[in-house]
Amino acid sequence: MQIRYECDLTGEEYVTQKAWRNASLKHCPLHPEGGCGFTRNGTYERCFPPGTRIARWYCRRGHCTFSLLPDCLSARLPGTLAEVEAVVGRVEQARSLEAACSGLRIEIELPGVLRWVRRRVQAIHAALNTIKGLMPERFAGCEPLLGAFAEHLGVDGVLPVLRSIAAPYLPSLPAPLGFSPRPSQGGEPNRSHQHPAGPDPPALLV
Ligand SMILES: [Zn+2]
Repeated sequence: MQIRYECDLTGEEYVTQKAWRNASLKHCPLHPEGGCGFTRNGTYERCFPPGTRIARWYCRRGHCTFSLLPDCLSARLPGTLAEVEAVVGRVEQARSLEAACSGLRIEIELPGVLRWVRRRVQAIHAALNTIKGLMPERFAGCEPLLGAFAEHLGVDGVLPVLRSIAAPYLPSLPAPLGFSPRPSQGGEPNRSHQHPAGPDPPALLV
């Protein structure tokens, strides 16, 4: 289970500072009363950004592992939220999806690039739509687009800020912003993807 690690570092700073060492979970999310054999369970590695590690806890009674994901990193997808935001922002500003994709991920063919980009755009726009619905008083009149949210919030990096604003809803918001494995509506069929290191859940959006 992924848990938010509240931290305002960039991905690079998180790695440089080895900030997973400062992550803490005071009690078991399943058994706040304690007595369940809740214990720190080391870290696991993520490949991107290189050197990333994620702090992890284990509840013996619940047979459940908890990973503390910092606000800068994508859930169920390699890399940072800033990288996802750059791709989605590029699509929002381009005249077409194809135009936005030119020059992106040149190591794969255009149909693959389109799928790669479309999954990210759909997941983020679905999350923004859901947040708008859950917090109408805060986002009424705001289009469910990153550009509109950025302007509304007065920030450049929208997604890490939304981890904070929408914190209570993260378990039900789609990855890579939220922690739900549920793919965005209208997406392509899931393909299982072997996570390169550690027991992170499969990356549904890769
Ligand atoms: Zn527990």
